[in-house]
Amino acid sequence: MRTSRAAVIKQFNEPLVIEQVPIPELDKGSLLVRIVASTLCGTDVHRWHGPLGGGDSLPIITGHEPCGIVEEICGERTDILGNPVRKGDRIVWSYVSCGSCYYCSVAVQPCICPDRASWGHNRADQHLYLLGSCAEYMYVPAPCLIVKVPDEVSSASAAASACAYRTCMHGFDRLGAIKAHETVLIQGSGPIGIFCAAVAKDMGAKQVLMIGAPAKRLDVARRMGADAVLNMEEVPDQKDRKAWVHEHTGGRGADIVFQAATNAAVPEGLSLLRGGGRFVNIGVGGRAAIAVDAMPQQLTFLTVRSGEPRHWLQALDFMASRRDRYPFEEMISASYKLDQINEAMTAMANFEVVKAAITFD
Ligand SMILES: [Zn+2]
Ligand SMILES: [Zn+2]
Repeated sequence: MRTSRAAVIKQFNEPLVIEQVPIPELDKGSLLVRIVASTLCGTDVHRWHGPLGGGDSLPIITGHEPCGIVEEICGERTDILGNPVRKGDRIVWSYVSCGSCYYCSVAVQPCICPDRASWGHNRADQHLYLLGSCAEYMYVPAPCLIVKVPDEVSSASAAASACAYRTCMHGFDRLGAIKAHETVLIQGSGPIGIFCAAVAKDMGAKQVLMIGAPAKRLDVARRMGADAVLNMEEVPDQKDRKAWVHEHTGGRGADIVFQAATNAAVPEGLSLLRGGGRFVNIGVGGRAAIAVDAMPQQLTFLTVRSGEPRHWLQALDFMASRRDRYPFEEMISASYKLDQINEAMTAMANFEVVKAAITFD
């Protein structure tokens, strides 16, 4: 049996182990992809530190942000635009929803399909084995939609489009238009928050404000479209942060708030939104209670889970077409080899990097 090297979580909070994992036989329409870059996401760190939502069962190949080169295809495949997919194409691929449940077929909200398949939390010792991205190879199930990566986009940035960036695009999709007089405030200066800054600016926001930390990430955010940033480490009091937002918004609060930190940031975010404003909740993890009577009047509260296949395409197209305007490559702060997985995961856990990439030669 052929095998692939993979970074496996064998015990929560213990160092990951590089192991040989079986490469499954391909079934009709599926692909085997040789990974060229796998970026790490905060979720990978949360999952490593303990089971997420109680549903994780070990061993798991970590990672769910892959970009790879097609190595084998079982039968004929086309990409999301209808073009043939061939061996050697550089691709990313979507998650899979069932297509036939109420959420998929009636509500047309496939991201909350109860039978949805995603990567980076599947057992490495059970058939189909290779469903985590920190591995030499990944199995791509037949129902995945395939998106070819434009030449202008690096493999690491393409990999980041497979979770962080496409989730941003989904958020903006749910939000709708941004008017020219509107201020967007972003909570959180991780990859999602910073990418949101670029998209908000590009969609025509009057100004983009960001509250986050540390300073290194905020510097990248400025170059990625944030007009003003506030370092939480320097301004630890919420009252002072509110005063800063009000100074920038005529005393009203932001027209639109993106929560790209954790759910624990929601109460503060709501307090920074004007009456009638729109709130987009993306960051996961953390908990908070919301006082209904403290909510802004006529609030619109949108939550975002994952992304639909078109958001993978939108994120890649955004980077390819705006590459002269925003320094997307600065978001990938460090590259590591597969053997350095523990170093990379630790750098993410300590917020030393915006995004860490595992790269393969
Ligand atoms: Zn993710
Ligand atoms: Zn479904």
